Amino acid sequence: MTSHTDKHLFAGEEKLKKQAEKFTRRVEKINDQVWFFSGFGGSNMIAVLGDDSCILIDTLNGKEPAEAALAELRTITDKPIRTIIYTHTHFDHTAGAGVFADSSAEIIAHTYKTQIYGHSELLDKISRKRGMRQFGSVLTREESICMGIGIWNNPYNTRAILPPNRLIDDESVSIVRGGVEFQLIAAPGETDDQIFVWLPEFKILCCGDNYYESWPNLYAIRGSQYRDISSWIQSLERMLNYPARILLPGHTGVIRGEETIRTVLTDYHDAIEYVLTETLKGMDQGLTADELAETVSLPERFAELPYLQEYYGTVQGTVRAIFTGYLGWFDGNPTSLNPLPLQEYSDNMIRMMGGAESVITEIDSSLDDCRYQWAAQLCDLLLHSPSCPDGIKKKKARALTGLGRMQTSANSRHYYLVCAKELEA
Ligand SMILES: [Zn+2]
Repeated sequence: MTSHTDKHLFAGEEKLKKQAEKFTRRVEKINDQVWFFSGFGGSNMIAVLGDDSCILIDTLNGKEPAEAALAELRTITDKPIRTIIYTHTHFDHTAGAGVFADSSAEIIAHTYKTQIYGHSELLDKISRKRGMRQFGSVLTREESICMGIGIWNNPYNTRAILPPNRLIDDESVSIVRGGVEFQLIAAPGETDDQIFVWLPEFKILCCGDNYYESWPNLYAIRGSQYRDISSWIQSLERMLNYPARILLPGHTGVIRGEETIRTVLTDYHDAIEYVLTETLKGMDQGLTADELAETVSLPERFAELPYLQEYYGTVQGTVRAIFTGYLGWFDGNPTSLNPLPLQEYSDNMIRMMGGAESVITEIDSSLDDCRYQWAAQLCDLLLHSPSCPDGIKKKKARALTGLGRMQTSANSRHYYLVCAKELEA
């Protein structure tokens, strides 16, 4: 295989490397009172200097990045931090809080609207395992490249989370801290407790994770309850009601200019709505999740936009999530109601293919030809069988490594590469 072909095959990896170049550590002065911290960890932080105190919106994703940001903040102001506002309570925005303040500070967040399913704690182990795969915790910095929407940063490093001690439940609340007005507006999106913060005096909108420069993570492959995409669309509509001149997202860079912000948010909204409605229409025609994952894609006018590239979430993952969210696991084909047990199916397939040896021959030639998905699926046939020959795990690891390098989405890349390492262990 020539290096030219390699480059094309691993275009996803090249694209992700290019994206990673954007994530440099910097403190941007937005105006005399507002500072934007990015590149310290995997997420951003906003500091607002009031007359007698400093107010933080989000607190980065761990103790170490927060300490580095605090050192920078102290070169700007020595005002005490008495208020922290979380745009949502995902750890990547709350895990640095304890570095900036103690529990006597006011920590504001919105309540969850949807109930977390009962007994979810029984999924602790697998949630953690899949989370580590998605975030690439065991990968080196080079293997990981970046988080797609921020620098790579070990999500399982030290956490200094402060739980919220003031939960708001209203659709919209206005508070004044340090002489600055903060409007907190409910905007369920990536999470159900998501808010955006509007600073009317400065026409600044801090949108948390409801917008960042990537196709959004409408489904997280680490696994989570269905994220209501129609609510996310409504939240973007709500954001468009505010004449923002500066948009400060929870990840990726600042967007400036009322016109640009309106265009970006409108495109984001329209593209998400397009995928939701096209998927639902296809489902209504009786198409399965597999079929829709193949056929629903962004039209050219959206696909070419730099802020809708699949650095984090993927359109295909979104389509599958919508299917499961609205219709559940059953694809509608009665063959799928009671499929053969995996082992019986695999044994039948291997027998028909002429036995394990000929399957291995096909796996090897697929790997040599970079047909990684086919190779991985063939490896699974053998791995499901109790008489699986030696060395298949290593072959599957090679297939997964190839697939990982083909991805633009950092989450998908990490998942493939971590699983490859697990198989090689
Ligand atoms: Zn985030």
